Amino acid sequence: MKVYLDNAATTPVDERVIELMTKVLKENYGNPSSIHAHGRKSRTLIEKSRKKVAAALGVTPGEILFTSGGTEADNMALQCAVKDLGCNHIITSPIEHHAVLYTAERLAQEGSVHLSLVNILPNGHVDIAHLRQLLEEHKDKTSLVSLMHANNEIGNMIDLKEVGGICEEFKAYFHTDTVQTIGHWDIKPKECGVHFLAASAHKFNGPKGIGFIYVDENVQVKPMILGGSQERNMRGGTENLVGIVGLAKSLEISLAEMGEMKERILGFRKRMIERLTSEIEGVVVNGDYNGKTNYIPLNISFPAHKDGEMLLFNLDIAGVSASGGSACSSGSNIGSHVLRALNADSSKSSIRFSFGKYNTMEEVDFTVDRLVEIFSPSKKEVTA
Ligand code: PLP
Repeated sequence: MKVYLDNAATTPVDERVIELMTKVLKENYGNPSSIHAHGRKSRTLIEKSRKKVAAALGVTPGEILFTSGGTEADNMALQCAVKDLGCNHIITSPIEHHAVLYTAERLAQEGSVHLSLVNILPNGHVDIAHLRQLLEEHKDKTSLVSLMHANNEIGNMIDLKEVGGICEEFKAYFHTDTVQTIGHWDIKPKECGVHFLAASAHKFNGPKGIGFIYVDENVQVKPMILGGSQERNMRGGTENLVGIVGLAKSLEISLAEMGEMKERILGFRKRMIERLTSEIEGVVVNGDYNGKTNYIPLNISFPAHKDGEMLLFNLDIAGVSASGGSACSSGSNIGSHVLRALNADSSKSSIRFSFGKYNTMEEVDFTVDRLVEIFSPSKKEVTA
């Protein structure tokens, strides 16, 4: 059996999305910027897609700009806030995705902004009292608060309305990385005081290399990528037509089927937690897994074991694809900055399992069975 439990890294593309994208790829080759009939057909598809995305978020189409994915959207939010809105203070957290963290660090190194990191509580949540304190201490500055909606490794979620309300109180701009939650939660940026929001299609069974940024209409920013007048002069370059159509379709499907998917995945989580904690001694579930959490990732630390370092590899050999912390840093062997921020026990090996709509309970049981085998007493030789 081959089991894919790495849906927070990326998801399989929905067949209905593939079908539509294939059709568009074959039939719509006109450049959307051309004014002839072929071009107009492509343009219409882009604008229809934009309208669908905007309607799903309860915003106007002009507030949605298609990007190459979540990374570009995060970069754009931070850079535009600093360069165009005069933000000279960024508050973010040490457990953000590197698309945010590295951009914030670069801006700080360039001397354009002061960077503050909000404290993380032992359960992995942002310390809201500290956020207030930082905003209060830097009242004289124009601040951008950049906090992700759900953490990609441990799943912990912030309350967008709460953070948006605090930003409003301190007249700060608010960017949220919703890459892990768009398509899986009902998100309405206008109800939460969000100025920028980043999203990516491949996390909700859409294609890779396409995403979008929401930019509140009251915020005037300049393009980050210069060139043609695409995306209402906000992002030069011929549009990824097939990707855009695929993004809109996958978002539409995900939102329509969200309730059903959530219910099934909650069942998988429950079973996995119950079985792992009762069948393997010393298993710890990281983050606020029973509280304010996204339902997709489940981050588990396993007890010290002679094959601890090889756990992911052994699971892979057994047919299970999962991830050690964030997929984006796996392979570079630098460990998880998120688990480090939580002071997780470094003698334990941690694995992020993340569920999707195509998983089955049989696959969950298969995965737990393999883990139980790996940790069975005959194989277990705990290192000192
Ligand atoms: N932000 C978060 C929270 C993510 O999980 C990811 C991808 O793993 C990204 C941003 C980057 O998105 P993309 O792969 O579309 O560039």
